[in-house]
Amino acid sequence: MICENIGVNEKGHLTLAGFDTVELAQKYGTPLYLMDEDRIRHNCRVYKTAMLDGFGVGSYPSYAGKAACFKRIYEIMREEEMSVDLVSPGEIYTAYKAGFPMENAFFHGNNKTDADITFAMDCGVGFIVIDGMDELMAVQNIAKDRGLRQSVLLRLTPGIDPHTYEAVATGKVDSKFGVAIETGQAEGFVAAALACDSLNIMGYHCHVGSQVFDDSDSVYLDSADVMLTFAKKMQEKWGFAPKIFDIGGGYGVRYTEADPTVDIAASIRKVADHIRRLCDEKCLPMPNVIMEPGRSIVADAGMTLYTAGTVKEIIGYKNYLSVDGGMTDNPRYALYGSEYTVYIANKMARKADFLCDLVGRCCESGDIIQPGVTVPMPVRGDTVAVCTTGAYNYSMASNYNRVARPPVVMLSGWADYVAVRRETLEDLLLNDL
Ligand SMILES: *Cc1c(COP(=O)(O)O)cnc(C)c1O
Repeated sequence: MICENIGVNEKGHLTLAGFDTVELAQKYGTPLYLMDEDRIRHNCRVYKTAMLDGFGVGSYPSYAGKAACFKRIYEIMREEEMSVDLVSPGEIYTAYKAGFPMENAFFHGNNKTDADITFAMDCGVGFIVIDGMDELMAVQNIAKDRGLRQSVLLRLTPGIDPHTYEAVATGKVDSKFGVAIETGQAEGFVAAALACDSLNIMGYHCHVGSQVFDDSDSVYLDSADVMLTFAKKMQEKWGFAPKIFDIGGGYGVRYTEADPTVDIAASIRKVADHIRRLCDEKCLPMPNVIMEPGRSIVADAGMTLYTAGTVKEIIGYKNYLSVDGGMTDNPRYALYGSEYTVYIANKMARKADFLCDLVGRCCESGDIIQPGVTVPMPVRGDTVAVCTTGAYNYSMASNYNRVARPPVVMLSGWADYVAVRRETLEDLLLNDL
């Protein structure tokens, strides 16, 4: 199977974390997001242990909350003693209300408004990751007004192409994020930051992109080269060496059998050895290193269940299997052509020989969850499972066509429980005056 937590039981039903998904679909209704809580905790521990072993005490992963953001997730992150990345007042408020210790939170974004910055400080966010020159002045001024000294990281763009989808590549020189090293602008940025008396400049941040696989480890190694060469230059020029070096987002996950499995611990060790060697060579003090996995913490914990509806065969052309959800709960294929593994959960023992496009119920031809999937002949009422939907599905869900968002049901040990309830029709009218 695509992930260790997926299986098939004696009834020929698909299981997630040992739970019969057909029974869960009946119990909670569909569409339904499932999240394997133990897998989330496992993934956190893999990163925490690997960071500690590779880089030493003081280095740690920070969960990128945008991958899956709701209160229960931040409770789990608190329990696992993870740090978190937050990118909006909404994410900040969700973590805050979940009782997350905000001193362990990083506030990101390429365009934080003054109100956002003020709100982040009100909530006691530990670190603000400053994206550019005017934001630097804004954070300095707001911190000064409040009489505090705000810890910050400076986001730089190392000019690395991570060979991933264009839409998720963020470290290239022409990115909207961060300040470019290549153009020389990063130097002025650091100089200006060091002159800000209400800021505590902790170090540098970069994030080259998402869905990085370990055969593209070079992405991390190359960006470390560029970043630490720059750090050395700044040390010589201004006497500033970073205490923190945040190397950005995490590794890729397996969406299909064709995707490789990443050995996270081995990959982190490789990056750690490289960074340690670079620091030695350059006589830079070894910084505390932070990595920001989002996808690889939650993606393989998730699965979406639907109920099959119309099965349409267009003789001589193609087949469609329509389900009771779609781009409203999973816009990732529509956005960037993401691949997924699809099963008919109640027909796992049957032969898969029906080729079709799995589509949603929205009034939009682009409402495709996955084209060209092969499944056992489906009929109305079957339970359709889309795997590895824990990241960027619930968090990207919309109410397009006034479709209510599905609930999130967590699976833990032998208990299943609702973490986010299903939106009701009344919820959809809450803001309509
Ligand atoms: C999105 C993002 C991440 C997380 O990336 P994943 O691919 O989900 O691991 C980390 N850091 C920053 C700055 C991001 O924008």
